[in-house]
Amino acid sequence: MTDVSSALRRIPSISQLMETAQAKALASAHSPSLAVAALRFATDALRAELLSGRQAASDVPALLARAAAWLTSQQSVQLRPLINGTGILLHTNLGRARLAQCAGEAAMAAAVSACNLEYDLQSGKRGDRNVHAEALLCQLLGAQGALVVNNNAAAVLLMLSALCQGREVPVSRGELVEIGGSFRVPEIMAQSGCRLVEVGATNKTRLKDYQQALGEHSAALLKVHCSNYKIVGFTEEVSLAELSALAKGAKLPLLYDLGSGSLLPLSPFGIKDEPGPREALAAGADLVCFSGDKLLGGPQAGILVGRADLIQAIKLHPLMRALRPDKMTLAALEATLLLYRDGELARQQIPLYQMLGTSLEELRARAEQLQQAISGIPGLKSEIVETKAQVGGGSTPGQELPSIALALCYEAMTLVEMFEGLRLGQPPLISRIQQDRLLLDMRSLLAEDLPHVSTALQRAFGQEGGLHG
Ligand SMILES: *Cc1c(COP(=O)(O)O)cnc(C)c1O
Repeated sequence: MTDVSSALRRIPSISQLMETAQAKALASAHSPSLAVAALRFATDALRAELLSGRQAASDVPALLARAAAWLTSQQSVQLRPLINGTGILLHTNLGRARLAQCAGEAAMAAAVSACNLEYDLQSGKRGDRNVHAEALLCQLLGAQGALVVNNNAAAVLLMLSALCQGREVPVSRGELVEIGGSFRVPEIMAQSGCRLVEVGATNKTRLKDYQQALGEHSAALLKVHCSNYKIVGFTEEVSLAELSALAKGAKLPLLYDLGSGSLLPLSPFGIKDEPGPREALAAGADLVCFSGDKLLGGPQAGILVGRADLIQAIKLHPLMRALRPDKMTLAALEATLLLYRDGELARQQIPLYQMLGTSLEELRARAEQLQQAISGIPGLKSEIVETKAQVGGGSTPGQELPSIALALCYEAMTLVEMFEGLRLGQPPLISRIQQDRLLLDMRSLLAEDLPHVSTALQRAFGQEGGLHG
């Protein structure tokens, strides 16, 4: 105890530290107030360590070094790139879809310069930010109208608020999903002010269940895609075409929260095809909403497509202003959509489709290339193994993608220590531990990531040096 209190008393004051040449250098390189904040951080951290009974260096050079390191860390953006070696291609915690290069560049260009976000260059008059993606969406999806908001949760909220407030909306009990975090269909419906009428049972809902639920207070029919789960066994759901006929008869719109929604066929990648937004509209949905950063492979956005009168009603809702997307999103989305005018361009340039389209032989060759690059690290052993990757992001639940991983073991560390060492490294590399192995899955990486993976491994387990270095 006395040891601790005397150690605490020996911590120099901020004003003493500020007299040192190093602190003065920090003050002139950054600013006097930032230098003081850094010294306060360093002394507070030391005090906390001593009080918790830990040994800590309390000399002046150690404190100054700590203050300098803190200033450096404070200056770099904390939201930063990392390497996704998890095998989950659209990883919600790791930023979901990666943008195509051209989409990233379009966002950057719109961001760092003035732009025609709401300015019509033809007429010189005030314009509408929605026009940028609207025409392309209509053209690609065969829709009358289109609208972009911040994310698909916002699209669902806005669609229900604008079209169904104060009235009833029947939804199948098999579709009352929780997408993640705070997005649950019943709650979002309550938030939008409409009344959920549950129909059918969890595993089976029939057309007559919907028929019985319709009445004078009905506002619309809503169908929700079960994005992140699958009901198997004795199941039955009503097709979009049947629902559409029912809705038309009742003169009500059919709304469809499609969730993910692909503009390309998925079967060439070994994934079961599902109706995308174009097919859903063709099958009779009046409005379809889906995410920009799931299977579309674009920026975070919610995309609403369908009947022009419904889109117009939604545009006029007061929530629209709160949920509207920014210029970077719109620019990245437009650039992404442009690629879809030619499916081949989309497959070649959108990272998700590059990942899906890489052959197992190519993945194996990449794993071998990495193996080569780290072969000189003493004590690090690697093995090439077959694994299963996933699309992720609430898309294609239950479907697995054949993949290849590099399984690593390092004699000086446990698997958890290796996992943490890579996660805390520079660049951070997120791996996965599965069946007593640390796996770096090749399916969630692009070819251009390999040199960075190599660097991360060298730094975590060996001496510096990269794949091409
Ligand atoms: C993912 C998803 C949402 C939420 O979309 P975000 O873009 O994440 O807001 C809503 N509904 C369904 C069916 C989904 O799959």
